[in-house]
Amino acid sequence: MAANKKLLILAGDGIGPEVMGEVRRVVDWMDRRRHVSFDVAEALVGGAAIDEEGGPISDATMDAAMGADAVLLGACGGPKWADVAFEIRPEAGLLRLRKDLELFANLRPALVFDALAEASTLKTELVAGLDILIVRELTGGVYFGEPRGIETLEGGERRGVNTQVYTTSEIVRVARVAFDLARKRGNRVCSVEKANVMESGLLWREEVTRLHAAEYADVELSHMLADNCGMQLVRAPKQFDVIVTDNLFGDMLSDVASMLTGSLGMLPSASLGPEDSSGRRRALYEPIHGSAPDIAGENKANPLATLLSFAMMLRYSFDMEEDALLVERAVERALAQGLRTGDIMQPGMTPVSTTGMGEAVTAALDALAA
Ligand code: NAD
Repeated sequence: MAANKKLLILAGDGIGPEVMGEVRRVVDWMDRRRHVSFDVAEALVGGAAIDEEGGPISDATMDAAMGADAVLLGACGGPKWADVAFEIRPEAGLLRLRKDLELFANLRPALVFDALAEASTLKTELVAGLDILIVRELTGGVYFGEPRGIETLEGGERRGVNTQVYTTSEIVRVARVAFDLARKRGNRVCSVEKANVMESGLLWREEVTRLHAAEYADVELSHMLADNCGMQLVRAPKQFDVIVTDNLFGDMLSDVASMLTGSLGMLPSASLGPEDSSGRRRALYEPIHGSAPDIAGENKANPLATLLSFAMMLRYSFDMEEDALLVERAVERALAQGLRTGDIMQPGMTPVSTTGMGEAVTAALDALAA
């Protein structure tokens, strides 16, 4: 029996508990069939926590998150909490998690399953087999830089200011994550900034180049300007393996990359923090979709983004590459059988519910592990 892995599940609001139910199904399967047991704790976040505990995340839940090996989150928010005070809105729970766990590297894979290649708005041959990973710096840059604000100038004109700022250590730690991940994938990193017009971009390029020469010369490194990268992502996305970029450009480029793959219900993400003294890296895994209040409680949500987030957790927090691949292949198999939740429905395919898709994935796991 493998050592227990401490996993904190925060299902959250709306479809969160429904899609997380299908993760529990796979966790049980792994316990039964792979003899991998997780020490699973559950707690509230978002609107559910506001209702029960008076705030979007309690100190006790934060302590549990700090002590866990990995946190898996469903989704937060919904119209029910539209009028709560700004400081305790559901999203504030997620922001506190990101801040207190110091999650500085956001990983967004854009993976196109063969069965869904035709669902992309791009030509099938451009996206079939696509497997890229965008690493976005998440805690620095223009969203946090000082000075910031809006001021009224003499004469009544107004002026808005934000500051793009990066330090060597902020650049180096996120670049190191990208290089380490590239070594486990296609061994290529493309670093993206605007070194032609921004000093912070020039520093970014210099620091990435220096780190590469000192520690990662075996990884292929290229540099690209952010505007060109946006163009290349829709022109020839398969040229990339790992892209590393700052908070602002990463925000935009990861959304561009998401759309290459078709549906929100298919997209996982991970956010990684610093390593502690025992080498454990804090980590939060979550689908990129929200709580989908329009379909909540109807057993219609696509659980695959959350299941793929769970697979990322197996890979990055627990170094269980074989099991991560198994879950990804089971997802692929369920799709290849023509099963579709409403969000990814295509003509001639078979509609399934949230639980139906979860059952299909566990049946595929059975078949793959047989
Ligand atoms: P959303 O992602 O919840 O939904 C957008 C559309 O996509 C909806 O039509 C929804 O039904 C559909 N959809 C989303 N996920 C799906 C899935 N797994 N399966 C099938 N269909 C799916 O975005 P929204 O409507 O803008 O936001 C709803 C709430 O979620 C808001 O309160 C928002 O603040 C919150 N939100 C939370 C997070 C998060 O927790 N990380 C992220 C985004 C939005």
